[in-house]
Amino acid sequence: MSRFWSDHVAGLVPYTPGEQPRVADLLKLNTNENPYGPSPQALKAMKEAVDGRLRLYPDPEAAALREAIAAYHGLASAQVFVGNGSDEVLAHVFHGLFLRGGRPLLMPDITYSFYPTYCRLYGIPCETVALRDDFALDPQDYVGGQGAAGIIFANPNAPTGMALGLDAVAGICRANPDTVVVVDEAYVDFGAESAVALLPRHGNLLVVHTLSKSRSLAGLRVGYAMGSADLIEGLRRIKDSFNSYPLDMLAQAGALAAIQDKAYFDKTRQAIMRSRDQLAVDLAQMGFDVLPSMANFVFARHRSSDAVKLAAALRERHILVRHFALPRIDQYLRITIGTDADCARLCAALAEILRKAQ
Ligand code: PMP
Repeated sequence: MSRFWSDHVAGLVPYTPGEQPRVADLLKLNTNENPYGPSPQALKAMKEAVDGRLRLYPDPEAAALREAIAAYHGLASAQVFVGNGSDEVLAHVFHGLFLRGGRPLLMPDITYSFYPTYCRLYGIPCETVALRDDFALDPQDYVGGQGAAGIIFANPNAPTGMALGLDAVAGICRANPDTVVVVDEAYVDFGAESAVALLPRHGNLLVVHTLSKSRSLAGLRVGYAMGSADLIEGLRRIKDSFNSYPLDMLAQAGALAAIQDKAYFDKTRQAIMRSRDQLAVDLAQMGFDVLPSMANFVFARHRSSDAVKLAAALRERHILVRHFALPRIDQYLRITIGTDADCARLCAALAEILRKAQ
């Protein structure tokens, strides 16, 4: 504790993303990055921006990008807010929509660990609701959310990968018409249904997307929120008070081209979904229980081997997977879907580790 810090800094436990070591032959299956790389069109657009325009300030409205996102989702651009990764968009959501006179924010007990971190940062009481024994989210548990500052959940959920159907999401919005419901759809493009379709009927719904996963632009830091013009205006007021440039020029150019390259997007996300379904079968054959995933990762527990030891043995073979030392899930590993060759290397390593352990 420094005597120079603001009062609340001492109690902060910063959110830590997965590690990013730089080692040759490393297979990084720990942070849900996309193995295929960004659209060639996105790379071209960024090169053009580097060559010709960096002398200028970026568009403070990110108008072309917001229009492209709106057109892609069938919305108006006043319904789109962009930020530096969905983490920053979510930070603005916490600041601009969830600070409601000490009212609690409702979320599942197993969820993206960023949410409790941001509750601590802003002093928002965090009220967790247990997932069912099979890790499914029960919409009935959110029926009494009317007094809350808001409701937030990831769909598909992180780190389970399990998805809720649109009827269930609509039910949560309908049961809490005066409460903001934020659905974080970071992984939605890998097979789940997007709640964007519900926006015309639910003014309390905000849907958050990222270009880090299905568009393979984690390094560019682009995310966005979609909702009623009213909710988006709340976020804009926060953003403008901090930094009136939502995204740098390269990010605006690259993101716009990535959104418009539908063919590359479909080809790569379908390859990931196929590899995921095959990996789930292969892991099950090796004695893992694998949760049904709609994301670009699987969440799996071996029936007779300890998760921490498995992760350590994989690390010795330069393969990183993610382990969470949290109640209920401490025997699970979250494994990002790589190329088929990456999955084969992972399975060969696991087979060898399990054979030696016998
Ligand atoms: N939401 C969820 C559920 C995530 O898993 C992640 C990735 N860690 C994010 C949001 C943030 O992604 P980004 O900031 O790269 O857009």
